Amino acid sequence: MSNQDYTVSQLMALEACTNCRSCVEVCPAVTAALDAELSGLYRIGGIKEILRGRSGLFRKLFKKRLPDEQALDRFSGTVFRCTLCGNCQEVCPVGIRLKELWVSLRQDLVHSDAFPKKIEMIRDNLEASHNVFDEDNEERADWVEDMRDAPDHGFVKDRADVVYFTGCVAAYFPLAQKIPIALAEILETAGVDFTLMGEDEWCCGFPMLGAGLKEMFGAFMEHNLAAVKQRGAGRVIFACPSCFQMWREHYPREAPIVHASQFLMDLVRKGRVPLKDLSMTVTYHDPCDLGRGARVFDAPREVIRAIPGVKFVELPQNRENCQCCGGGGNLEMIDAGLSAEIARRKIDQVLSTGADAVITSCQQCVRTMTTFVKRNKVPLDVLDITQLVRKALYR
Ligand code: SF4
Ligand code: SF4
Repeated sequence: MSNQDYTVSQLMALEACTNCRSCVEVCPAVTAALDAELSGLYRIGGIKEILRGRSGLFRKLFKKRLPDEQALDRFSGTVFRCTLCGNCQEVCPVGIRLKELWVSLRQDLVHSDAFPKKIEMIRDNLEASHNVFDEDNEERADWVEDMRDAPDHGFVKDRADVVYFTGCVAAYFPLAQKIPIALAEILETAGVDFTLMGEDEWCCGFPMLGAGLKEMFGAFMEHNLAAVKQRGAGRVIFACPSCFQMWREHYPREAPIVHASQFLMDLVRKGRVPLKDLSMTVTYHDPCDLGRGARVFDAPREVIRAIPGVKFVELPQNRENCQCCGGGGNLEMIDAGLSAEIARRKIDQVLSTGADAVITSCQQCVRTMTTFVKRNKVPLDVLDITQLVRKALYR
């Protein structure tokens, strides 16, 4: 248990909070659970209590004590019930980098032995298999076998112009595997020389940060960087916004990185993706890590608008104000009920637009929203931007 999990600027920022409650009002977890203890404001109060309890001076002057084991566990239960959507950070008027603070707090709680049991499972899975689901890492690119005309090399080549880093969710979840299949077909049609890394791809590290397991990250990062370098690629593309964010913020920039929506926008602009008419009305859900995180708002919208026949309508809350789908921050593993309730609110908002389909640019958003609409028999299509383009592709 130590304060070293926080940076000096994080410790100083705690004192800048003005109790304005803006972070409470926008928090999807608070609204869905009707529980203000899930808010940023409450959490900041909790961190201060812990830090003061650790300070010798505060203990002497104000008889401050560390929260007991039960209180710490209870607090921890609120901290991990957060999607790390960053909406609180977006609205904080004094600019506290709240999302990073929540990650540091999770790290602190893991070091303090006050964390949900599921965290141990995430750690064990990553250690044993190099992916978060404890799947055989050699099967990472097995989804290629489900493609209609899969080439003999299975898109795993020694060298290529572009590396496509698929991420754990898209590699292993059948529902999400439609995304790499769609992207691979588009890249083939556009004549892009790309490769997958197969078993050489390890988890990007994002689930480690969310689980407070930052110490594990270095080895994974070094492995992934070496694997990309070995392929001599000039660019790395990601359809997963969390992998993209991870590489943007935590990997040394050795090769240019680009999200699939940006790559598609470029291909569409150059006329390398022949598109046919699609008669449908769609709306767009900004994934938290791609929108608020990486500030990629325009590329997916430009791609959608480039498809003839598609009518595009915005959600009432869009771009940096877009409401989370409920799938982030490992919340589904920690509290599946809360994750589903956040998804319900998202789908209600989507239905209010009258769209036939909600488009997003994230396999986890697709998985969360699709699971909800299927379970509740909601007549709505949920598609990744790659799937929408694949649907419109002339082949
Ligand atoms: S990151 Fe999102 S879910 Fe977590 S406290 Fe902030 S607004 Fe709430
Ligand atoms: S939005 Fe920022 S200043 Fe306002 S209560 Fe939340 S953390 Fe404090």
